[in-house]
Amino acid sequence: MKVTVLGSGSRGNSVLIESGDVRLLVDAGFSGRDMERRLAAVEIAPESITALLITHDHSDHTRGMGVVARRWGIPIYMTEPTRAACHKLLDGTEKLRRYGSEEPVEIQGLVVAPFLTVHDAVDPIAVTVTESATGQKLGIATDLGRATTPVRAALQGCDLLILESNHDPILLRESHYPWSVKSRIASGHGHLSNRAAAELAGELYHKQLATVILAHLSEAANEPEIARDTVGVALEKLRYRGPVHVASQETPMETMDVSRLRALVAPPQLSLL
Ligand SMILES: [Zn+2]
Ligand SMILES: [Zn+2]
Repeated sequence: MKVTVLGSGSRGNSVLIESGDVRLLVDAGFSGRDMERRLAAVEIAPESITALLITHDHSDHTRGMGVVARRWGIPIYMTEPTRAACHKLLDGTEKLRRYGSEEPVEIQGLVVAPFLTVHDAVDPIAVTVTESATGQKLGIATDLGRATTPVRAALQGCDLLILESNHDPILLRESHYPWSVKSRIASGHGHLSNRAAAELAGELYHKQLATVILAHLSEAANEPEIARDTVGVALEKLRYRGPVHVASQETPMETMDVSRLRALVAPPQLSLL
């Protein structure tokens, strides 16, 4: 399985997952033109995408949804309350598929398991995606007010984690945001701080955890180095051997090949013969 964060932050989010010829997008939070530009940058033809999964109705996750679905004929998976909340982005010609936290859906060898999150959207979920053939598991959890017990349970055993590390509390306090926005971000229905991300990453650590990507960083209330250090130090104490990356708002990250990353943290046992 291969994973590419096409961009992440409060101005747009989208992650590409590839497994052979199957390609899933998780969220389409950029304009249609910007989605096309980002996919072109990683040499993906938009028509080749199998499905688009939507996590919640906020515009930084849905902005390009309707255009992507109509222009390239891509089916959209979303919960019914999210569909209702996004009705202005849809004209009724899109191919819609229901999914939700009740049960996983299988999309051509990829098992998508949505789980409930606490966030100030209509019906927020996050997802894990597991490749049936290899057992490789990806967890994508941004837009978390807090890491609840179901969130922590769902994210156990991932090879690759994309976790929100939204803000530094001091930078948030000093930022130009109005107090109402500051308190919304820091609340249990807003976004995870760097420290909360570090605690969650530490809790999810296991020996096969191969890569952590920090995402949805606030541009006004965070710095990539602070986020990376806060989470990196917590994981280092647990003898984590993989990298901690920070996703960019502006440009797609390098593509992560989970098979290769797995081999780096757990080299295959050499035969004694
Ligand atoms: Zn968001
Ligand atoms: Zn959101």
